[in-house]
Amino acid sequence: MYEARLRENLPRVEARIAAAQERSGRTAPVTLVAVTKTHPPAAVRAALAVGLRSIGENRVQELEAKVTEVGRAAADWHLIGHLQRNKVRRALALFDLIESVDSYRLAQELSAEAERAGRELDALVELNVSGEASKTGFSPDEGLDAVAAVAALPHLRVRGLMTIGPLTDDAVAIRAAFVRMRRLYDDCARGVPGFEARWLSMGMSGDFEVALEEGSTLIRLGTVLFGERLT
Ligand SMILES: *Cc1c(COP(=O)(O)O)cnc(C)c1O
Repeated sequence: MYEARLRENLPRVEARIAAAQERSGRTAPVTLVAVTKTHPPAAVRAALAVGLRSIGENRVQELEAKVTEVGRAAADWHLIGHLQRNKVRRALALFDLIESVDSYRLAQELSAEAERAGRELDALVELNVSGEASKTGFSPDEGLDAVAAVAALPHLRVRGLMTIGPLTDDAVAIRAAFVRMRRLYDDCARGVPGFEARWLSMGMSGDFEVALEEGSTLIRLGTVLFGERLT
């Protein structure tokens, strides 16, 4: 069922991605992360079967079940939700990229745990550009300093920024938030030692085209690929 659905939805999404890139004249490669939260492991298998490689989950526990089913090495697993500090060790073993580093304390613990494990951890710093209280992440005002502090930690490799667009139908506000992110990302690329500008993660099912037009290089799509969430 999931595979049939994806074989129908993915080409449409890919066409929309290509059109958005063409409109803005951008040619940077875009990473599509398939967000499988609330869907069963069959959704992950289907994503892999149609050639998607990056899988996004927002909870450690849910991810564990899927990794057990499909295998740790089968996919690039992205954590896209808030990580509680008591789950840092488990998350480190499971995820290839933590997109949601949303506080300095969490960043410190991730770095310390990575050191204990004798490795480096790829991470994105999450900014709350919309300022909505329901969202975690650094405020854009503390943006550059916060990113610099996180990037200075010894065992984190900061490879970009992540944000969740404003929860609104106001297209102007959505675009403004993404433009602001893009500027911060460029500022980080120029001015933050150790910052590797690989991914600007912004755009979900409802706003990925605007995000791409404004320079996103990683979009996180759930609904538009798999249908409505199950819970
Ligand atoms: C759920 C989620 C997504 C995917 O949302 P859709 O609107 O279903 O595409 C993307 N990013 C984050 C952080 C999420 O929590």
